Order: sequence, then C-alpha cells, then structure tokens
Amino acid sequence: MCKQAGQIFFMTKYIFVTGGVTSSLGKGIIAASLAKLLQARGFKVTIQKFDPYINVDPGTLNPYEHGECFVTEDGAETDLDLGHYERFLNIFTSQANNVTTGRIYQTVINKERAGEFLGKTVQVVPHITDEIKRRMQLIGKTNEYDIVITELGGTVGDIESLPFIEAVRQLQWELPDEDVVVVHLTLIPFLKAAKELKTKPTQHSVKMLSETGVHPDVIVCRTEEPLGNDIKKKIALFCNVKQEAVIEAMDASTIYEVPLLMLREKLDLFCLKKLNIKEFNEPKLDKWKAFLDKLKYPKAKVTIGLIGKYLELQDAYKSILESFIHAGAMNEVKVQVINIHSEFITDDNVGEKLEGLDGLLVAPGFGSRGIEGKIVAVKFAREQGLPFFGICLGMQMAVIEYARNVLGLQNAHSTEMDTNTTNPVINLMEEQKKIKMMGGTMRLGAYPCEIKENTLAHKIYNKVQISERHRHRYEFNNDYLEAFENAGMIASGKNPETSLVEIVELPNHPFFIGVQYHPELKSTVEEPAPLFVHFIAAAKKYNETKSALISSLLQREKE
Ligand code: GLN
Repeated sequence: MCKQAGQIFFMTKYIFVTGGVTSSLGKGIIAASLAKLLQARGFKVTIQKFDPYINVDPGTLNPYEHGECFVTEDGAETDLDLGHYERFLNIFTSQANNVTTGRIYQTVINKERAGEFLGKTVQVVPHITDEIKRRMQLIGKTNEYDIVITELGGTVGDIESLPFIEAVRQLQWELPDEDVVVVHLTLIPFLKAAKELKTKPTQHSVKMLSETGVHPDVIVCRTEEPLGNDIKKKIALFCNVKQEAVIEAMDASTIYEVPLLMLREKLDLFCLKKLNIKEFNEPKLDKWKAFLDKLKYPKAKVTIGLIGKYLELQDAYKSILESFIHAGAMNEVKVQVINIHSEFITDDNVGEKLEGLDGLLVAPGFGSRGIEGKIVAVKFAREQGLPFFGICLGMQMAVIEYARNVLGLQNAHSTEMDTNTTNPVINLMEEQKKIKMMGGTMRLGAYPCEIKENTLAHKIYNKVQISERHRHRYEFNNDYLEAFENAGMIASGKNPETSLVEIVELPNHPFFIGVQYHPELKSTVEEPAPLFVHFIAAAKKYNETKSALISSLLQREKE
C-alpha cells in the first residue's frame, strides 16, 4: 500500500541509527533531531528504540542502571529516549516504539511453547532476527507514518547487539535500496596534546559494522572541534561514503539546538536523497526557533530545589529537568535546579539546606530511604509560603506531612514505608493487593482526572477534564479525605470513575500542589506541561517579591 506525503506517493521508509566507538554519544538526540527536521518538512515521522538487554522492559531497572523510566500513554514502561522523541516531535509513542531483547525472546519462546514452530529447531537466525524484523516494521505497516526511524541501543561490536544488526542487514537486503538509510553515529576525539582530531576510532567502528554486512550511508561525527573539509574527506575516503554523507555534530549548549545544527549540515537532505524523495517543503521551524530564543536569552532566573534520592545521575529525573527547560522558556526565565539529597535534610538544617530557593519540587520515588527528609522539606515550604510542587511520591509526602503536623495524626504514613501504621493516609490500591509480580504491574499510563472548579488546579489547566500518565502502586486513602478537607487540604482533582485522588492543594498558600500522576511525561517543546509553567511562574513571583523586600530593607537601612 502507498500513501501520500506532499504530492508524491511512496511506501514507508526506514532510517536506522546505529552507534559506534562509545556509548552516550546521544543517538537518541540525533535520531530525534533528524525526525524533527523531516517532520518540519511535512513528513509524518515516528521513532522507535530497540534495546539489546534482557529485561522485558526497563520498568524493573533501578534509575542508576538506566536513568528514568519513561511511561507512554498506553502504559508501557520504556527507555528515556522515548521521552526525547515525544518532546521533540510532540507526538505520542507507545509500547510498539520500544522493544528489548527480552521482549523478542519472550515472544519467540511463547510461540515455541505453543508449538508454532512445528518441530523446527528455534534459532537466533532466523527466528530471533525474524521477530526483530517484524517488530521493526510493525509501526511502518500501520501506514500512519511516511518515515520510521529506528534507534539501535548499544554500541556496534557489543555481543548482544549482533542479532539487531543482523536484522538491519537483512532488511537492507530485502527492502528496495531507496527505502532504507543507515546512519552511524561515532566520536571523533580531539587530542589536546597533539591539537588534532582523530578519525581512527571511526574508521574501526565503520569497519566493524561493515564486517557484519551493514554499510552505513551516513556517518554522523560527534566532535568538540569543527571537522573541516580535510577531516570530512578523510572519513569519507576511509569509510567509503560520499563526503556530503559525513555530518559534523558539534557539542551543543542545549540538546534543542541539535536539529538546527543537523539542518545546517543537511543531514535531512542527504537522507531524503538516499530515500529518493524529491518533493518536500522548506522546514517549518518557527515555533522551535522561538522557543530556542527564549531559552537562550532569559530575562531573569529562578532557583528550584529538586528533592530526591537519585541525584548523582541526572538521567534519573530527565523528564522533570526537561519540563523545567520548557516551562522556563515559556516564562522567559532560566531555571536553575539545585539538587538536594533528602537523606540529609533534618528539622535543624532545613532552613539552611533550602536557603535561596524560589520553589521546591519533591520528586517521585520508591522505598523508604530519604523519606523523613522529604517530609521536613514539605513542612518548610508549607509554613514559609515557598511554592511547592509534589509529583507522585512527592504528593504522597505532602499528604503525610499534613496528616502529621496539621491533622495531628502523629504516626501517619504510607504503607509502602510502614506496613503497621495506624494512620495509613497513603495505602496500597485495592487492585494492587493481589499482585505478586513486579514487572509492568503498577497503575500505568493515561487515566482521566476531573478537576474541581475555582481551584488552583483549575486555574492551571483551565479545564475540567484532563488526562495524565501514571506510575505508582499507592494512593491517597479516601477514608481520610473529609478530615483533610476540613483541615484545609483539598482534593482538587479525582479520577471520575474510581474517585482516586489525583491532585491535592492548599488554597491558603501562594502555590502548593501535589499530583499523583506524572505531568513531566507530557511536557513537550511545543506544549509545555501547564503545572510546570505555573509552578515556574509562581517561583518567579516569589523571587520578585523576595527581591523587592530585600531592596526595600536595604533602602530603609540607608535612610
Ligand atoms: N512509591 C510510590 C508508589 O508506588 C510513588 C511512585 C512514584 O513516585 N512514581 O505509589
């Protein structure tokens, strides 16, 4: 079947992005940037990621292992690169967009147990590679997209990547030449002592890829220094690609700059040429550029404290940090995020630890480590009128703090941390009680929420029906709702079917809101999450009031 993009008709095209030399080169950002440019030229594009590890999905992985777990609308627990795809493209991804070795083997083994291989020996080639190929083309076959970009996790040469590379080799051979592009991302190190860029690792990496039968069409080179024509020529010659297929990817000050760098290097045009697509629009990137301008030239600064426990690894709170960038640009302020380890916050040092902040965000999380520090921090924000925003566990902490310090329920807790508490203000959801298996069994994905009018939540969303994504097992215990509302903490958003509390807030505070869901998962460049936008606006106001107060005090001192 064919479909239309602009004036012409063609089959779904496939772009594969592989990585060489080292990990962490930013394949996801390059893939998302290329996708953005193709989208800006009028094509319908999506991206998927194939990860070579054996976990069926990253849901059971500790954030230290694999960064944040990104949750899609349909409740898939996925790689954090899917977050980049959504933030860049402003589209939803799904379970089909993230596939692991574990998922591939699970499908093949289930088929084997069902007797579907009719007595054959089940092998990596062809059975595993067939399943990989089927999944690589699954989204393409829906005919919803003109171009499907597939990012292969891992680095060429890894043992576990081999079946994926072999599947790409087979597809490169099976599909028409003009339907496939292979992009290889490598590193060109700069040796300071010799003041030279070195191409040898790239040559080796391309050689290794070619030995598996896959020859890259494009080589994208991560570099600290401009490549210059000579280096490009050398890479082209030794790696057997055209010089125009050697793309310089200079380190950028923000990931959001990368699409423009790739535009300048004509990565999109080269891919379109290889795909034999001749008709396309000039890239429409006005909104993107306007966002970048605001991001690069902020008018003021706010300081937000991020209270969490996985702070050594920035990737653990990726979507939250990106949401701050989107919301900061929207408010034309730079958002400086200060990481504060909750484990080290006590009643005695809280004032010192949170000094100078314009807002406090208590992050999502699991388990009891650092819990008491989070509760102390919430109390400080509540009492000092400091803008507060709690996400998932952060909202649960706000509830526990209010129960203990306002309702006077001394031992109030979540049954996640204290199974014996006599005041389980946060407890396990009914449907969670019978669950024994940990993988993929939380309350996951998009659920509706109904917002009460005349509340802060209503002001923020400016509507009554919203839908946000979830990832948790525990919830607000509705047995206590009346007591909370009588004492001043209201449930301003609830699930319309189950009455699960989704949003709590304090009407008598400048900005105090906690949400059981994860608004950071839906924030994109084009549509920043309203909660983050309003939280940053509140922090800006707090900062301005604070500065005005300080200058009037100074003035008075002078007089
Ligand atoms: N541990 C809490 C729960 O499972 C919060 C989860 C989260 O912050 N994502 O309910």
